[in-house]
Amino acid sequence: MPIRNRFAELHTDITAWRRDIHAHPELQYDTPRTSALVAEKLRDFGCDEVVTGIGRTGVVALIHGKTRTSGKTIGLRADIDALPILEATGAPHASTIQGKMHACGHDGHTAMLLGAAQYLAETRNFDGTVAVIFQPAEEGGAGAEAMVQDGLIPRFGISEIYGLHNSPYLPFGQFAIREGAFYAAVDSFKIQVHGKGGHAARPHVTVDTTLAASAIVMALQSVVSRNTDPQQPLVVSVTSLQTETDAFNVIPEHATLRGTVRSFDMELRAQTLDRIQAVVDLTAQSYGATATFSLEEEPYPVMTNHPDETQHCAAAARNVAGVCDTDIPRTTGGEDFAYMLQACKGAYIQLGVGDGPGLHHPEYDFNDEVIPIGCSYWVTLAESRLAP
Ligand SMILES: [Zn+2]
Ligand SMILES: [Zn+2]
Repeated sequence: MPIRNRFAELHTDITAWRRDIHAHPELQYDTPRTSALVAEKLRDFGCDEVVTGIGRTGVVALIHGKTRTSGKTIGLRADIDALPILEATGAPHASTIQGKMHACGHDGHTAMLLGAAQYLAETRNFDGTVAVIFQPAEEGGAGAEAMVQDGLIPRFGISEIYGLHNSPYLPFGQFAIREGAFYAAVDSFKIQVHGKGGHAARPHVTVDTTLAASAIVMALQSVVSRNTDPQQPLVVSVTSLQTETDAFNVIPEHATLRGTVRSFDMELRAQTLDRIQAVVDLTAQSYGATATFSLEEEPYPVMTNHPDETQHCAAAARNVAGVCDTDIPRTTGGEDFAYMLQACKGAYIQLGVGDGPGLHHPEYDFNDEVIPIGCSYWVTLAESRLAP
């Protein structure tokens, strides 16, 4: 049973929800409109229980099957938050809020899981309970961790949990997954460089902060290329260099660098952070400056798919799409579903939406044509894991 016919009928409705959410993007935990819209729809569908305020602004609904002899509950999770990006799609349903947009397709994830919830509440052809989980703050803020800390897993008795992300890097309708480490651990860092400001015409009486900061950027390139086993994936990116002045004739007193580390191995991560610390300290010192290195936000852990659950996802994907790539390369992107997979068995899959602007691009727009495929995947997975 590949694409469910019911989703051909619901496609227009689900597309309208998706575009409504797209037009009203909300960031991190500040999702009052989206959370209320989700909860209202779940109540309209006749879900057995709708709980709001899990992980601050997350929403969870329980849908019981015709029978519950298995006593089992599985969790299906969508993320609901948007990004601080100025939208440039020109779409009729484009963001109505300047500087915020759904550029990662979480509007599509939310709409597809709502569609699946409606179907599951109508049909209930399973033995046990499905928990549909709508999580805030995936794009920074660790909303998945907040929901886990709020007791998500034990409170609803969830024994398996599943996630899905759309991918503009995969052909339309194609699923891909891998067992084990799939998404990287994410650290964000800040380096503050302190020199001695002064007149640009008299550099010999200053400590040139801009030069020291630039040298640190260059020196950090050797952490991956010279200090790391070439067989081990690792990224160190410096993404920002700011000083307190944009004058052409002033040597600034302070400079701030920002960047990120992506890793798959906790030992390598620790070594890398130590190495960055040493490079920052000693490079600054060699220019007569000082520098401090610190981590910002809490790091996202490596997202690791559990083996059996990976196979369950692949089987459901094959059922819907005919094939499923189970050996897609790891991605150096991060995903806070990692926290849910630390707390519970489960797996996370990608669904191709075809060529187009990449995730987090101002022209990205979720491809609504994929909705029946994503919805069918969710209900196939739920029914197969809770087969009577
Ligand atoms: Zn994203
Ligand atoms: Zn995303």
